[in-house]
This record gives sequence, C-alpha cells and structure tokens, in this order.
Amino acid sequence: MATIKAIEGRSVHQIQSGQVIVDLVSVVKELVENSLDAGATSIEVRFKNQGLDSIEVQDNGKGIAPEDFETIALKHYTSKLSSYEDLTSLDTFGFRGEALSSLCALSNFHIITARAEDGAVGKRLDFEVSGQLRGTSVSAAQRGTTVSVENLFAGLPVRRKELEKNIKREYGKALNNLYAYACISVGVRISVSNQMPKAKKTALFATQANPTTKENIMNVFGSKTLLSLVQLDLELQMAPSSTRSFMASATEPSMEVHVHGHISKPIFGQGRQAPDRQMFFVNSRPCSLPQVAKVFNEVYKSFNLSQTPFIFANLVMDTNAYDVNVSPDKRSILLHDQAALLENLKASLTGLFDTSEYAVPQSQM
Ligand code: ADP
Ligand code: MG
Repeated sequence: MATIKAIEGRSVHQIQSGQVIVDLVSVVKELVENSLDAGATSIEVRFKNQGLDSIEVQDNGKGIAPEDFETIALKHYTSKLSSYEDLTSLDTFGFRGEALSSLCALSNFHIITARAEDGAVGKRLDFEVSGQLRGTSVSAAQRGTTVSVENLFAGLPVRRKELEKNIKREYGKALNNLYAYACISVGVRISVSNQMPKAKKTALFATQANPTTKENIMNVFGSKTLLSLVQLDLELQMAPSSTRSFMASATEPSMEVHVHGHISKPIFGQGRQAPDRQMFFVNSRPCSLPQVAKVFNEVYKSFNLSQTPFIFANLVMDTNAYDVNVSPDKRSILLHDQAALLENLKASLTGLFDTSEYAVPQSQM
C-alpha cells in the first residue's frame, strides 16, 4: 500500500494560514494594512485582554461591495494584484489575498461593512473556516469596515498555549508595530486601546491625521522625544557595482536612495533620552531591515557609546530595487543592492554626525 498521501484540504489550509498569521503582530499588521489600502483616514485598533480575547480594527475606508462578499475571504482572492508582473509596481500593502482567508482558519472571524451609498445600514459577514461566506445579516454601521478576530489560534491548541504564555511580549510587539504604522501614516488618525477583563477601556495612544511624520511621532512618543531628535535627510547615490544582482541589472533600477526620518542626537545632556525605539520603512512600508539597523546603530555608537538611539528611517527608492515577496508574512524585504546601500549609508550618516552641532565632543567620550 502506498504510504505517501495528500494531506486533507482543511489541514493544508490551516498549516498555510499559520505561515501568514504567525502571531499577534501579523493580525494587527494585516488588518491595519487592509484599512490603509481601503483609503481610510481613521483607524481604530481595539484589543481585548491584550488580544487574547479579541482584536478589532475599525476603519472609515471605502467598505466592501456586496459583489465581493462571496470571495473576500477565499484564498488568493485580492482586489490588488492580478498578475505576477504587477508585483514590481505595487502601491498597496496587500497583494496576495491570504490574510482574511487565514484568519477564518485561525480564529472566530467576522466583518461588518458599509459603503458611502449604503447609508447607516451595513452588513455583517460570517465565514466558514475555509473562508467561504456562511451568511450575511443587516447591521448598523458607519461607512467603513470593522474586522473582528476573536480567540486567535483557537483551532491550533499548541499555538494558542504559546500565545497565552507569551501574551505580554506578543502584545508589546504588536504595539511596537502599531507605533510604526501610526508614525508613518500621514493624514490618517490611528488610535489604539485595550480593555482588560472586568476593567474599563484604556486609550493607549492616538495620532491626529497630521500632515507630517514629525507630528505623528510627537503624538505617539511625546514632545520630549521629538526634541531629542535630529532630522534625517540623506541622499545616497550609488555607483553601479558589479555585485548587483541579475534581477536589478536586468531592469536597471534607479540607484538613488533617499533616507528620510528622525534619529536621536548623539549629544549628551538632552535631559531624558528618547525611548529605545527603532522603526524602518521602505517606501513607507514598515519592515524589518536588520542589516540597515546594524549600520545605524554602529555609526551612532561611534559617536555615543552609552545610548541606543531612537530611529525612524524611511528608505525611499525605486520599486524595482527590492522585493517584498520574500516571506509569507511580508515583513522581510530583499534589497537587491544591499551591500552598496549599507556602505553609502554608513558614510552619509557618519558625515551627518561629524559635521553637525549634535556630535559629542571628543573630550566627553
Ligand atoms: P490582500 O490585502 O492581499 O488583497 P486580504 O485577505 O488582506 O488580501 O484581503 C482581501 C480583500 O478584501 C482585499 O483585496 C480587499 O479588497 C478586501 N478588504 C480587506 N480588508 C478591507 C477593508 N478594511 N476595507 C475594504 N476592503 C477590504
Ligand atoms: Mg491584506
């Protein structure tokens, strides 16, 4: 008898979903990105019991059309990408149509949505574990969409246990991730609250649909933090190098990278120091850039040994110069010309601190 058999469809769906939604951060990230993609100018994130009971994201975006109810949570159904070629010109956060389908497999999940033309009458959508629409009912709603994720990982007992055990850390990571979206999203009000069992709801932070990231940072981290920062405005010009990957050279991407943002002044004596927060973005997409972070921290350390800087750095570059499609959770980004970028960044950042009035005098080091 053959020993190799196909895994049952439902199990495959759960396994794959667990790769897209790996933790609490993924839930928050996917839902906030969907709200931003829907053109929301106001996004409210509500945790219950730090996310263990539920995570709810409400936006005032364009809502969901009734024609899309049936397919919205099916795997690989997306309104954002229809062919592989579109990937390079992507201007939305989402593109794989996997988040909602995964959440159906991993939680008790429902959506309430209304479009501008629906008045105050919205629809509540309930789904099967597979992502198939189970039914709709009328629900009072403002224009926009509210997505509710209850009992995350309930169907995966081991992962649920891990989540319960590590909830403090997971919740902390989710808040850090929300800081990044709140600070980078200009013109969008992002507010976050948590409600512990039998307690009142606690407002955690809120931005005010500000026109600049500076004001967002002030809303989230306070004006003291803002005062301890210096503006980053670096232009990295990279000569074409032989180490460039074949993908990059095939499409001849622009070799310019602009680094916009804010970083702690290395100078001592600024009163309370900026909190130890570091946020990186590529074309305003929050992402994990460990090598870039390393350069920032190393250069900073050469000017100030005793502190870890606050960093908010947005790397603006041609969309051909990187690939977001590296990991299922889309948090890692592959920079095609990373070595040259790191080298330039190091020189440019050193130049900024070297010439600026913020540098620590040698005698104090
Ligand atoms: P993706 O974002 O990759 O398209 P998702 O599973 O996250 O995949 O979402 C599937 C589709 O559901 C989106 O393409 C979008 O059309 C719709 N959608 C999801 N969230 C929202 C929202 N908050 N407002 C409006 N439409 C939404
Ligand atoms: Mg999405």
